[in-house]
Amino acid sequence: MKWYEMRSEEVEQTVNTNFQEGLSDKEVQQRQKQLGFNELKEADRPSAFLVFLEQFKDFMVIVLLAATLISGLLGEYLDAIAIMAIVLLNGVLGFIQERKAEKSLHALKELSAPQVFALRNKQWVKVPSKEVVPGDILKFTSGDRIGADLRIIESKSLEIEESALTGESVPVAKFVQPISGDNVNIGDQENMAFMGTMVTRGSGVGVVVGTGMNTAMGQIADLLQSAETMITPLQRKLEQLGKILITVALLLTALVVLVGVIQGHDIYTMFLAGVSLAVAAIPEGLPAIVTVALSLGVQRMIKKKSIVRKLPAVETLGCASVICSDKTGTLTQNKMTVTHLWSGGSTWQVSGTGYDPSGRFHKGDSEVQPRNERALHQILTFGVLCNNAELKLKDKEYIVDGDPTEGALVVAGLKAGLSRESIQKEFTIIHEFPFDSSRKMMSVIVEDKSGKQFVVTKGAPDVLLKVSGSILWDNKQQFLSDKYETEVQHAIDQLAGQALRTIAIGFKPIQPGQKIINEFEAEKDLTFIGLQGMIDPPRPEVKDAVKECKQAGIKTIMITGDHVITAKAIATQLGILPMGGKVIDGNTLSMMSVEELEEVVDDVYVFARVSPEHKLKIVKALQKKGHIVAMTGDGVNDAPAIKASDIGIAMGITGTDVAKEASSLVLLDDNFATIKAAIKEGRNIYENIRKFIRYLLASNVGEILVMLFAMLLALPLPLVPIQILWVNLVTDGLPAMALGLDQAEDNVMRRKPRNPREGVFARGLGWKVISRGFLIGIVTLIAFMIVYDRNPNNLGYAQTIAFATLVLAQLIHVFDCRSERSVFDRNPFENKYLVWAVISSIVLMLVVIYYPPLQPIFHTQSIILQDWLLIIGLSAVPTFLLAGTLLTRKRK
Ligand code: ATP
Repeated sequence: MKWYEMRSEEVEQTVNTNFQEGLSDKEVQQRQKQLGFNELKEADRPSAFLVFLEQFKDFMVIVLLAATLISGLLGEYLDAIAIMAIVLLNGVLGFIQERKAEKSLHALKELSAPQVFALRNKQWVKVPSKEVVPGDILKFTSGDRIGADLRIIESKSLEIEESALTGESVPVAKFVQPISGDNVNIGDQENMAFMGTMVTRGSGVGVVVGTGMNTAMGQIADLLQSAETMITPLQRKLEQLGKILITVALLLTALVVLVGVIQGHDIYTMFLAGVSLAVAAIPEGLPAIVTVALSLGVQRMIKKKSIVRKLPAVETLGCASVICSDKTGTLTQNKMTVTHLWSGGSTWQVSGTGYDPSGRFHKGDSEVQPRNERALHQILTFGVLCNNAELKLKDKEYIVDGDPTEGALVVAGLKAGLSRESIQKEFTIIHEFPFDSSRKMMSVIVEDKSGKQFVVTKGAPDVLLKVSGSILWDNKQQFLSDKYETEVQHAIDQLAGQALRTIAIGFKPIQPGQKIINEFEAEKDLTFIGLQGMIDPPRPEVKDAVKECKQAGIKTIMITGDHVITAKAIATQLGILPMGGKVIDGNTLSMMSVEELEEVVDDVYVFARVSPEHKLKIVKALQKKGHIVAMTGDGVNDAPAIKASDIGIAMGITGTDVAKEASSLVLLDDNFATIKAAIKEGRNIYENIRKFIRYLLASNVGEILVMLFAMLLALPLPLVPIQILWVNLVTDGLPAMALGLDQAEDNVMRRKPRNPREGVFARGLGWKVISRGFLIGIVTLIAFMIVYDRNPNNLGYAQTIAFATLVLAQLIHVFDCRSERSVFDRNPFENKYLVWAVISSIVLMLVVIYYPPLQPIFHTQSIILQDWLLIIGLSAVPTFLLAGTLLTRKRK
């Protein structure tokens, strides 16, 4: 018998579970041991050895190895072995970098691994989807991705989109009843939910019948194995640039060799020098260092509570010019407390803070007992009845399990002594139409003890008003005339004006047995009973974050489903809505075309009473205006806008799987201030990449030019091949990596957002590379010439001087690279990694110069003290000559 043919009880028996209690931890462990984890097998990763070999496939490295082999055959063993060792070391470093990048990307994937709600030991707990076993009971709601193959045992308006399996994008309604038939298609198995499909509506419970490769998804898993490319725009630009740089480096190297040979150097020496120079000058390591810098940045961002799901987002973050943020939970705390209630012209206040269910009711100045106020009692009762939240006590603190808005209603009820248990003694819930942000309402059909049935609805007051035909006024049902409507509107505005979120309650009696097929039929001709107004305090850190964003040239826009007046009040408190700033509501927005919105969008700071569907329009209008848009969201319907935005941001706590999957950034704490922190980090990572590109390329320019000029001046080689390779490995490598970890410049959030189209060399970087590189080459040559001139018989000594000058000039220059302005702008000791990298590079250089056993290998000689004055003086020139002069002024 197939799963879909069985009745629920049969499934319960077959998978040996208990629908009320779930599995025990012991059973789960046993089943995991027996059946394995709930995972799809991944394609094998390339072995470590292969990755290591990859490091040597570079054309120039192969040429170098061949050249070394030739020099070995010619008897230059020492040179050959030394060069081999350096190439090997270079390979090892590249390998470590690549593995590190890969590991952190993998760790990232683990972090954003999906979770599910499972019934274990009679308790609903959140567990990683990986740990689910057959027999587990899972619950899921709109926006969740199904974690395993399930037989559905409970369905509330449940619809699931199964296109991942069936290709059919229209969601399928799901039921509990068994289906008969031998070969029912997956698409027609309406009592099953399959791993990887998405809940688009309603909620449900199911029992796991298949996990891992033993699911419908597992059977087609091989087809799904496609490696996602994680290349960022900058990496792509660097790849293109790399090709140009290689050509230029090769041409210049060829020129060096050619001129050298013409000037009478022997071909073999020039060949080896040329190849070494080419290896050193070609920035083949750049893309790898960029990946490392990006992934290290990503790890720093995790510490600041944001997870980057798509690497390119790190770069785009720095370009963001608008953040469109949800209000509830992101700008505010999402800790609702009902403070005011209104019905039929009367207003009550409730005391108490947070979710603590103790408080008193007042009407005007006098305290009242809710049970004596009929209307009040009714609003409170219905507020608890049409509700799925639960209040729990955890570590002496009250928390809400479920929607905080509903939690507030539960707490307000408890303050009047109305618990769910007591209310459900009076009423039984027969059916539920769940809340959704587009409808802005939720309803239940209930039956009282005498068998009478009602629809009870709660939702946004203006929406509920539209579907009401009558109103309860002074405990009497009245026709909802214009007069009453104005009164209600006035009450809503009054509450909203105090920044309160408002929920209206309505109801209608129905005939027993009357079939209500959908929510539209339920939610019409209601009787409007009253309002509950709740505060949702702003998050304290948001105001400063908004201000900081403003200074950074980033506009914050509030997008909310809440009432216009509530939204306005909170936006003003948070500094989002300036004087004269526009507020647009959902109705107006619906009537506008994208073009019309584009006209005004720069003046709009708040979009209120909008549906998630509106967000896409807002993103499009902003993008058409040339903005780089960050858009937050949590629900299923937010996904298209999240996807369309430049930086899609999903909420880590309240976000659905669907929203998370569409996003490129997930906020672990749902907090707006975290977006700001991520943007700052994004800007910094990009700047750090610019820093080491600048450092590496200037160093390479210096290395090539010193050789080229020497050849043009008919001088001997100022550096021997092994020295060039050494500089490339030690002096360039370590500090460049340290630059990748540099702190942000203090003005990083006072600059305008970066233009996403800007090239690698924008903002004067190209000029800095060439000017500094040129000077590094020149001073190295001068040091070489002075010492060589003094004693032309000791070429080796002059070469050692050139080597030391080149190394030091680069190590001083690295501090200049830390700032876009000038080397004097920053404390050079701030970046500890850099200080250590520079110190170790200097020590290693001294070892190579002074340690006798290494001297023959590196062709070095001990330098006398006076000559250090010359070396230090000259090597400081490139950095200090240009720092603070006209030449460093930022080029616009
Ligand atoms: P944001 O987009 O900033 O998160 P929001 O959370 O206020 O805004 P929605 O959750 O879409 O937006 O809510 C829109 C309106 O629907 C609210 O102002 C409220 O009146 C009503 N509402 C919210 N939650 C519920 C609920 N659980 N049941 C019934 N009505 C609700």
